[in-house]
Amino acid sequence: MSTPSPEQGAATAPSDFIRDIVAEHVAQGRYPRIHTRFPPEPNGYLHIGHAKSICLNFGIAREFGGVCNLRMDDTNPAKEEAEYVDSILADVRWLVRDWADDRLGLKPAGATPKAIDSQGQPDFYLGPAAGADAAGAKLEPFYASDYFEQIYTYAVALIEKGKAYVCDLSPEDTEAYRGAPDRPGRDSPFRARTAAESLDLLQRMKAGEFPDSARTLRARIDMASPNIWLRDPILYRIRHAEHHHTGQQWCIYPMYDFAHCLSDYLEGITHSICTLEFEVHRPLYDWILENLNLPRPLPHQYEFAKLIPGYTIVSKRKLIQLVNEKAVTGWDDPRMPTLSGIRRRGVPASAVRSFVIGVGVTKFISLTDMAVFEHAIREDLNKRALRRLAVLRPIKVVITNFPEGKVEELDAVNNPEDPNAGTRKIPFGQTLYIDRDDFMENPPPKYFRLRPGGEVRLKYAYIIKCDEVVKDAAGNVIELRCIADLESKTGGATAARKIKGTIHWVSAAHAIDAEVRMYDRLFTVPEPDAAGDFKQHLNPHSLEILSAKCEPSLQTAAPAQHYQFERLGYFALDPDSAAGKLVFNRTIALRDTWAREMQKK
Ligand code: ATP
Ligand code: MG
Repeated sequence: MSTPSPEQGAATAPSDFIRDIVAEHVAQGRYPRIHTRFPPEPNGYLHIGHAKSICLNFGIAREFGGVCNLRMDDTNPAKEEAEYVDSILADVRWLVRDWADDRLGLKPAGATPKAIDSQGQPDFYLGPAAGADAAGAKLEPFYASDYFEQIYTYAVALIEKGKAYVCDLSPEDTEAYRGAPDRPGRDSPFRARTAAESLDLLQRMKAGEFPDSARTLRARIDMASPNIWLRDPILYRIRHAEHHHTGQQWCIYPMYDFAHCLSDYLEGITHSICTLEFEVHRPLYDWILENLNLPRPLPHQYEFAKLIPGYTIVSKRKLIQLVNEKAVTGWDDPRMPTLSGIRRRGVPASAVRSFVIGVGVTKFISLTDMAVFEHAIREDLNKRALRRLAVLRPIKVVITNFPEGKVEELDAVNNPEDPNAGTRKIPFGQTLYIDRDDFMENPPPKYFRLRPGGEVRLKYAYIIKCDEVVKDAAGNVIELRCIADLESKTGGATAARKIKGTIHWVSAAHAIDAEVRMYDRLFTVPEPDAAGDFKQHLNPHSLEILSAKCEPSLQTAAPAQHYQFERLGYFALDPDSAAGKLVFNRTIALRDTWAREMQKK
């Protein structure tokens, strides 16, 4: 297998049981085109778990020449907002851009199902990079709520066929009558209601005659079924609420189970892929479609195990609590497992893709080690990050035998992994900063960084020896006075002299200031969700803010660029940056290269 380019990431996923099924259907010529969908509910921002579903659905579309519709599963007006719709579209586009953007099924903005229903199913447009179709119309996601009218006619059809009835039980009684997995349910007293009466009541529910929860529409299936989802499930409920997409138009809303299979059908979806918790809903998915005598091929549902990464949570319901209670700065806080947080932190989309594709698709629920994600991020960034020098906890170094005021421009490689990345000049002067961590007054054995009387190489520059340690009145080290071997720079007589430690530095006269945000895991335990309140496991040290000194070329740091601050990790510019105020996020630390390099020697 060839190594994927950083832009493409893990372009080819290994096969899995779902791909095997799709491949078989393609071989049989069962469908004219493979059509998947990614159907988030716009009640929060997308997280890393969703990335797995996106990459599976888009991956199948791109591997089998199909389409993946982006659909807002917006049937619950209470929790859904337009802000979330926008963030979802932005996050999906970020993740599939350069990879499967040409598979993204969208529709012209504002098109109603009627207008796009010429062939008996909504036409889709593949999402071009500009987000507009050939005629210049803006494209937008599909919305389940666009199908409310059609879904309503399907409800009417089920009543007419004797397959659904209006029920007057309260929510509590409905629940009590449903029984339990080990106990059959009881028939609702309204189960025998005639079709005519149910039709009349449904019509009046729609017209707004009844308050919230006064009545429901239920499928007439089997109150004794071992599968409780088949015990006359609710299809419609009354909610007098403003909907982000349909406004005040509706006061009855279809339940997920009713709307989802029909939305899939209406969009011509062939493979409806979801997570395992929906496996028990599948008989209902099939029942609804099969009882409507629909003319076109029916979609089928397939389930896989969720991605559950360690040391974090992937549940919008819980993530929203972190946002609302200000445990984080927002949905896009770089510590969040949201795609917007991950992006802001500086993780490339290709690294997210290679992680979620690499963990594979199975039916086994298990915790995924975050180290796997971190490995994917490092692999990706190593190839593309520009190397720069920055000092996170500065301490002053004065080179006493280097002329005051003299500046040397030294050559530094931008990326040893990428010859095309070129070189740059970095200024060297008499006064420098090095990292506090790179000096110890009383070091343990095998400490190869700077110590009194010891030598170290300054990266791209000279070997220096610490001659004098200057302290303030309180005994804190405030300056190191050093002597440089002025022949030891590249090309010099002693350039080849072997020195065990190499450290980074910046010239004090040229350094620019930056705020650097260092992140650690948001939670202190692998499964914050496992027991009790997940918030009690928040890591109080997940953010540390440092005042760093950076080499001057970082003055023009670009938001989309990834940097490696040598020996410190990978960094990216944060949107909080402004003219004269640089803010960097540490995306991820380097593997402990220092310790490893030392071991080799
Ligand atoms: P949450 O609990 O975070 O709200 P959800 O399943 O309710 O998750 P949806 O917006 O309904 O969120 O999910 C959209 C799609 O993403 C669904 O098909 C769902 O199965 C899938 N999905 C959600 N979470 C994960 C996950 N952790 N791993 C893989 N797929 C997921
Ligand atoms: Mg959901």
